[in-house]
Amino acid sequence: MIEKMIRENLKVILKRIERACIKSNRDPKEVRLLLATKTVGVEKIKIALEGGQTLIGENKVQEIKEKYEGLSSVFHEKHFIGHLQTNKIKDIIRYEVNCIQSVDRLNLALKLDQRLSRESKEMDVFIQVNTSNEDSKFGVQPEEALDLVRQVAGFKTLNIRGLMTIGLFSAEESRVRKCFKTLKALQREIIAQNIPRVDVSELSMGMSGDLEVAIEEGATIVRVGTAIFGEREYPDSYYWNERKNIR
Ligand SMILES: *Cc1c(COP(=O)(O)O)cnc(C)c1O
Repeated sequence: MIEKMIRENLKVILKRIERACIKSNRDPKEVRLLLATKTVGVEKIKIALEGGQTLIGENKVQEIKEKYEGLSSVFHEKHFIGHLQTNKIKDIIRYEVNCIQSVDRLNLALKLDQRLSRESKEMDVFIQVNTSNEDSKFGVQPEEALDLVRQVAGFKTLNIRGLMTIGLFSAEESRVRKCFKTLKALQREIIAQNIPRVDVSELSMGMSGDLEVAIEEGATIVRVGTAIFGEREYPDSYYWNERKNIR
């Protein structure tokens, strides 16, 4: 039953991605689907991975730990998309996260670099930008993003690959679109600066409710949870409403 539901949902999402690409004259191959797997158990994630998906995103280090063994037999790439506390950095490395999409402050980059240097490792990162101006969300302010990119580029263990944002939760499409336009504009601005070691070709934006708008505005990764795995038992505020000053 659940297997059938997940497979059907995946088909619908892939179709939605394809249609949005066609509408905006983009090649569907340019847009990757990231499975947002917070609160989703190993069995369900495996169904999606065995159905051909290869990319998952987790918000909590604890969940990465818990699912690590269970997912080890299926090929996948793992991105971190939640708020990262510096005391969890060692686990991010130990549990083989491939990319941190939520780098949003200098201190986090600094601590990451220290740890990675010690272990002679590197990490792909995205800079998370707060394009919606909502206090409840993490991310560097758009006006400060370029500075942060320059600073992060100075850490040789961190490879900047793109930008990430969570769009505004609003039924008004134009307001959601504005967030994605802000991220795209930032990408252009950063590219124009020609900063050594900076590659911001990836734009991670768009979720279950707004992926079409995000694709029209240039998303290369859409992060989808509920539309594939069903409703979560915890509200998203559990993941996003942590106070900003908890660092
Ligand atoms: C949960 C989550 C998503 C997916 O949200 P859905 O509405 O379930 O598709 C995307 N990005 C982040 C950062 C998330 O925490």
